[in-house]
Amino acid sequence: MFSNLAKNIEELTIELTNIKSVVGTKSELDMTAKVYEKLSQLPYFKNNPDYLYKLNFIDDDLNRDSIVSMVKGEKDENNKTLILIAHTDTVGISDYGAFKDYATDPLQLTDKLKEVTLAKEAKADLASGDYLFGRGIFDMKCGVATFISIIEAITKNIKEFSGNLIFAAVGDEEGNSGGMLSVVPELVELREKEGFEYQAVIDNDYMAPRFKGDENKYIYIGTVGKLLPAFYVVGKETHVGEPYNGIDPNQLAGAITNRINLNVDFCDIAEGEVSLPPVTLRQRDLKPEYSAQTGRTATLYFNYATHQKTPDQVLELLINSADEAFASVIEDLNKQYKIFCQKSNYPIKELPWKSRVISYQTLYNKVKEEIGVELDQKIEKLANELIEREELDDRDISLKIVEEVHKLWSDKEPVIIVYYAPPYYPHIFVEGQNKKEKNLLDSVNKAVDEVDCEYRLVSRKFYPYISDLSFVSAPKDDGVINTLKENMPALGKSYDLPLKEMQQLSLPVVNIGPFGKDAHQFTERLQKEYSFQVAPKLVYKTIFNLLEND
Ligand SMILES: [Zn+2]
Repeated sequence: MFSNLAKNIEELTIELTNIKSVVGTKSELDMTAKVYEKLSQLPYFKNNPDYLYKLNFIDDDLNRDSIVSMVKGEKDENNKTLILIAHTDTVGISDYGAFKDYATDPLQLTDKLKEVTLAKEAKADLASGDYLFGRGIFDMKCGVATFISIIEAITKNIKEFSGNLIFAAVGDEEGNSGGMLSVVPELVELREKEGFEYQAVIDNDYMAPRFKGDENKYIYIGTVGKLLPAFYVVGKETHVGEPYNGIDPNQLAGAITNRINLNVDFCDIAEGEVSLPPVTLRQRDLKPEYSAQTGRTATLYFNYATHQKTPDQVLELLINSADEAFASVIEDLNKQYKIFCQKSNYPIKELPWKSRVISYQTLYNKVKEEIGVELDQKIEKLANELIEREELDDRDISLKIVEEVHKLWSDKEPVIIVYYAPPYYPHIFVEGQNKKEKNLLDSVNKAVDEVDCEYRLVSRKFYPYISDLSFVSAPKDDGVINTLKENMPALGKSYDLPLKEMQQLSLPVVNIGPFGKDAHQFTERLQKEYSFQVAPKLVYKTIFNLLEND
């Protein structure tokens, strides 16, 4: 059976790669149509047409859709259900330059690439014949092909299959996860309607070497999370002729960056697995024009990876760090000012600055105390106007809301306001503390034992590349969710997350992906043997182990 499966997956991977499905474009619909077509051709769905359907994105200008299918085992009464997810979109193809027309044609592209100078490793992989190149082949048409082929194999013997599967093929994963975010409420509904008992979610997005020369093949039980903490820095402007009369927001922002950027102290460690440290994605002052006046405000934000820290904990950590940064700037300024006064024979005075860092929630409450519900109305109105402005993204909208709330505050002294900008991806840490988590860990480990191969299979806890898996769980503690909500100004305005449904699902996850290299580069490539022969077997065995376990 497995050699047949491998052959099917290989053919289908190439066929699906041929369909361009660039995120954020109409072409995404071509790919979901193809997935629908492929599934609808299976006798099982011909017999059960209601088990296969299109699900529209919520509020989408492009009218994109996801494909949802259900497989109900007929061997016995077993409500256990697994959710399989795969994304159908890819990143763009402009990186292929002159070979753009071949980007989605793996067979021709592999030939064309022989004509260009490639990095050493890519060149060797190309020459080896072990790899297929192409946009999306690795991330993640092969994964979609794997699930479709496994469903084909399982439904052929549906009388022998115990338990149920839901397969959701979702788009916009490389963008704003519009597909998955519309599927999440659907999953909650299906559970009610069908009586499904969800056990776990399986994804088979790409898996790559973790470092140069890394020979391991990874299975990830769990996934990394991501927060985007942002700072609105309010200094005090001054004329350049009297620089010590002000406090420069650029200097404060710089001090925050120095303290946090790539600082390993902020890595989130769980079971010895270390997240990436925070990294700045933006830092700028907000002065619109040139003038001989120093700036008054600045902003910066970080990509912040999590393994177990929750939004409330990260917020507190960052408020403290920004406070230390602020205090260090004041200390430095006093030191410099003193030297300057001594050298100039001026009387020495202590500078008036006090370090002050607060959360957006604190700011909001302070302003609300002053002006009451008028604040809610003003912000609501502003948000509605901002959403209409196409040039603004969720980060810009967040900042403009923070600016406005601050503007309405009677206190004009220097302050740093810490808040969250979108997106938010919760981490999922599968500790094995409840039955579902234990079952998943056992089932995957058993599958690894059962699959006999020459590769070194290693299971780890956190899928390191942000993925849609994050959305099948959220912190269970409502206090944590509240802290997030109260400190994310764009939430419920320009940015939406089905937090309640995510909490309701609260599922452990695993990613068992194909192997390849250079996702999101023109040298994106899939290693054939592991991807077609080993990974699918691991997925298949994991499915059976999970549904059979009690
Ligand atoms: Zn992907």
